[in-house]
Amino acid sequence: MNEQTLSMRLARVAAHVPAGARLADIGSDHGYLPVAVLRRGAIVAAVAGEVALTPFQAAERTVREHGFNAQISVRLANGLAAIEPQDRITAVSLCGMGGETIRDILDSGQSRLRGQERLILQPNGGEQPLRQWLMDNGYRILCEEVLRENRFDYEIIVAERTGPVTYTAQELYFGPLQMQARSAAFLLKWQRRLREKQQTLAQFAQARHAVPEHKVQAVVRQAQWITQLLA
Ligand code: SAM
Repeated sequence: MNEQTLSMRLARVAAHVPAGARLADIGSDHGYLPVAVLRRGAIVAAVAGEVALTPFQAAERTVREHGFNAQISVRLANGLAAIEPQDRITAVSLCGMGGETIRDILDSGQSRLRGQERLILQPNGGEQPLRQWLMDNGYRILCEEVLRENRFDYEIIVAERTGPVTYTAQELYFGPLQMQARSAAFLLKWQRRLREKQQTLAQFAQARHAVPEHKVQAVVRQAQWITQLLA
């Protein structure tokens, strides 16, 4: 993968960036995403935010090598602190981090958002708490995807702030739109997850005295939900 040939995962994220956006890519690492979408003329400007020095320098190098210093600001900053009001950001991408980390970045950086930005989120696990945060903060999920690459199942969640929205516990767990669309990738992901849950329960059964009952019950409930979903 590089700024010319994105991974399938980042290519699908790029497809959700609105044309003409001013993008803030937080946790940009090498900066491939903002550089790739700018190269295609899909966005007009970007901020690449990084909290760690080595990836920050990598993003600076990628941007410099493409002569995009005027269009992409690379900033060493924690989370949404990379965004300044004068950036007039219209889309924020947070990709390749745990869902809880993405949630915490959104939560602690809310003052940096105007509430009109499209959020393009690609959590590595932790989708349920991330969706919970979106619901609690008035973000409606507009689009969801599951894709498999390099033996990992990735999810992409696109959301915008629209006002109060309610999702059921199962919708928060599986994704409200994915539950309806039931794509092949989605069903395969949950078939694999069901096998994992069953293995976990078998392990719990062998070491039952050591596992708190509420933990066992949580996995039992998840396995039931998945079974119902796949039925
Ligand atoms: N977004 C790229 C992608 O999807 O390929 C890079 C993903 S990389 C696994 C996660 C990056 O997020 C790392 O470079 C890490 O330094 C950065 N990161 C983690 N927490 C962050 C935070 N609070 N603020 C900014 N960057 C953060």
